[in-house]
Parts: sequence; structure tokens; C-alpha cells
Amino acid sequence: MNNENSRNLYDLALQYIPGGVNSPVRAFKGVGGNPLFFKAGQGAFLIDADDNRYVDYVGAWGPLILGHCNEKVVSALQSQLQQGLGYGASTEAEVEIARKICELVPSIEKIRLVTSGTEATMSAIRVARGFTGRDKIVKFEGCYHGHVDGLLVKAGSGALTLGEPDSLGVPKAYTDLTHVLPYNDIEAVEAFFAKNGDEIACVIVEPVAGNMNCVPPVPGFLQSLREVCTQHGSVLIFDEVMTGFRVALGGAQSVYQVSPDMTTLGKVIGGGLPVGAFGGRKDIMDMVAPIGAVYQAGTLSGSPLAVAAGLAMLEVITEPGFYAKLDARAKTLLEGLQQRADAAGVPFSTNQVGAMFGCFFTEENKVTKFSQVMQCNVESFQSYFHTMLDNGVYLAPSAFEAGFISSAHGDTEIQLTLDAAEKAFSQINSK
Ligand SMILES: *Cc1c(COP(=O)(O)O)cnc(C)c1O
Repeated sequence: MNNENSRNLYDLALQYIPGGVNSPVRAFKGVGGNPLFFKAGQGAFLIDADDNRYVDYVGAWGPLILGHCNEKVVSALQSQLQQGLGYGASTEAEVEIARKICELVPSIEKIRLVTSGTEATMSAIRVARGFTGRDKIVKFEGCYHGHVDGLLVKAGSGALTLGEPDSLGVPKAYTDLTHVLPYNDIEAVEAFFAKNGDEIACVIVEPVAGNMNCVPPVPGFLQSLREVCTQHGSVLIFDEVMTGFRVALGGAQSVYQVSPDMTTLGKVIGGGLPVGAFGGRKDIMDMVAPIGAVYQAGTLSGSPLAVAAGLAMLEVITEPGFYAKLDARAKTLLEGLQQRADAAGVPFSTNQVGAMFGCFFTEENKVTKFSQVMQCNVESFQSYFHTMLDNGVYLAPSAFEAGFISSAHGDTEIQLTLDAAEKAFSQINSK
């Protein structure tokens, strides 16, 4: 495959952008080789700077549940472009999207739009602290909530890929207030809360962990969080920036039937444009300025373009059967991958929740823990990644990221992926 243009662009990028990228995982450090540069997306496909085509399982890291350039989203954006890019004031459309999200996710009674997932989690935590008058927070190992100072402790995603669970520049005093517990460990949660519960402002969790590959909650885990938070007056925050409108129309909270006090959203709700949101119980959200004393603001918040894209996207995903179809396709894909791995004798297992999935090079039957994720064979993944890439399939360039399927992924794209995987698995075993 010819990658000359990508390589030249990367060389140039290295001169002007730290590491040549605007977000670390893009740099291919987790898989080796040079990152590709892209110039277009069409449905389920990405087209790189050398005109190579790839079936895309990154989906812009989650937002593109309708694939690239969905007609309805593009046309909503085109008509908003004629009306202006932003007014720094209120619009009808932002009320409409707020109302729709509140209807689709009943635990959200009021919601505020921001510009990224990071901003959403940062604001939600501030609100939870303001509401409870407490400073300490709880997060889980391997969960990523954006690059918020106090949350960059044992965080997933790029932080894992780079082997840098913590970051320079984060004052120790900030992270002293953050307690980290093991994901999916009900006993650890109960023991911690029995001792410290009354000092905890909030628990923030990815209800399906998607930044240490894809690890669904074990039965009872989210329920136990709900119980300890209720018992100790702590705010339960589901960070659904990835899972919201991804695993189901009502998010992970609808799949597992656990209602958080607050929810953070991002990715899918912007239809591909920069958006985030935080919302939840009325009494908690009414702490936010201008009616409450918790300050939060944003120049571009509720951007009419992002809201137009989000509304168009919501219209499509609320059509009956949308998620059932996505779920079925993801199952076909994962069953096909498993069969081919088994046939090639490659230790492999998968996780899936709706349109989000994980593939693990491991002897374990079911991966439920961070420690199991960390024991997966990264070399096998790297070999798999590069063979897939050479055969026209673009996966997240890291063993610790979830995969995403969109409504533009049809039988043809899945078959193409499985054919590539057959080669990729046999390649691993011949090493
Ligand atoms: C991506 C992500 C974030 C951060 O969102 P950004 O828009 O990248 O700031 C936060 N939480 C979760 C669960 C995410 O997957």
C-alpha cells in the first residue's frame, strides 16, 4: 500500500505540532509505524491522503454512529450555515435538543451543553462538589474521563497506550482528592464506602468501560454504586460520553437499569461536531449558574452547528429498529472474528454492548477486569492491526481502545473485514 503522502505530511506535522498530532493516540505509538493522514470519509469508509480506502471502526472515536457524511446530518449543517455560525445567545434548537435528550434519558431532568467530553466531566464534578459540600471523589482504574487534572489518575485511553497513567503538570494536591478503586469490584466499593462514604462528593464511572478496550459492568456492579451513593449522600455520575446513544438509545443506564444522579455526554450527541453535555436531577442541576452558585460557562456552548448536527442525528437514531440492527451487525462481526481466530488457533475473546465492542488477544474467556486487559498480548494486537490496515481495515491504533460500528457498516463491509481478519490471524500464528 502506498503511504507516501501520509509520510510526507507526518514529517511536516512533526515540525509544527507536538508529536505531529492533535491528540496522542493518533500518533500510532501503541502499534508502531507512521500515522495515516485522511482526507475524506464516505459512509463506513475512510480515504487517506494516498487515496487508499479503509473500513473505519474508529468512527472519529465514537461520534459517527451514522458513518461519514450522513445525508441528513450534512443537509442540516448546510442549512444552518446559511443562518449563521453562532450568536452567543439562546436558540430554539438548543432547547429542542435539551428536551429530546431529557425525554430519551429520563434520569436527566435538566441539561447543559458544553463543547467537549472533558468539559462535561469537569463541570459535573464541580457541580457534585458544590451540591454536597464535599471535596473527595471516586473514580475507577482504567476509566478515562477526559484530561481533567483531578481525573488523570490511573486513567485509560491514551494515558494507557503511552504507559503514562499519570501526567506531569497535575499538582499532587489535586489528585490527593481522587480515590481510585478497581473496576467491577463490588467488595472494594462497599469496603471503601463503609469507611469513607460520608466524605465522598461523587463517584464517576464509565458504565461500560470503553477506554481500557471494552469492558462491560459485571452484574450488580452499577447497582452497588447506586446503593452506596444513595446511602452516603454521594452523587453518582455516569460518564456516558462514549456510551450515550452508542450502546442503546437510552445509554448504558437504560441497558443496565440503573439511574445515576448525573450523566455526562459527548461524542454521538454532536453528530461529529465538538459537543459535550452534563445533566441530571433538577435539584442538582439547579446548583449551576446563573441560578446556582456553581460557576460554569462557555463561549461556544450550544453551538448552532453542533446542535443542528446533533438534532439531525437524533432523528435518525430514534427510528424504530435502529439499535437492534446495529447490535445484530456487531454480533455478526464479532462472531465471524471469533470463528476465524479459533480456526487459526489464536487466543482471542470479545466483548460487545450495542454498537461498541472490544477484541482481546487473551486466553481468558471473558475479560471483566483492568488487570486482565493489561495482560493481553499487545504484540499479537500490533501484528493484527497492521495486517488489517494493509488489507483495508482501519482499527483504533491501540490495544486499549473500544471499536465502533455505524449504521453505514453493511454486509459488504463486514465481509471485507472478516476476510482481512482471516489473513491477520494466520499471520500472528506464523510468527
Ligand atoms: C472521550 C471521552 C471523554 C472525553 O471527551 P473529549 O471530547 O475527548 O474531551 C470523557 N469520558 C469518556 C468516557 C470518553 O470516552
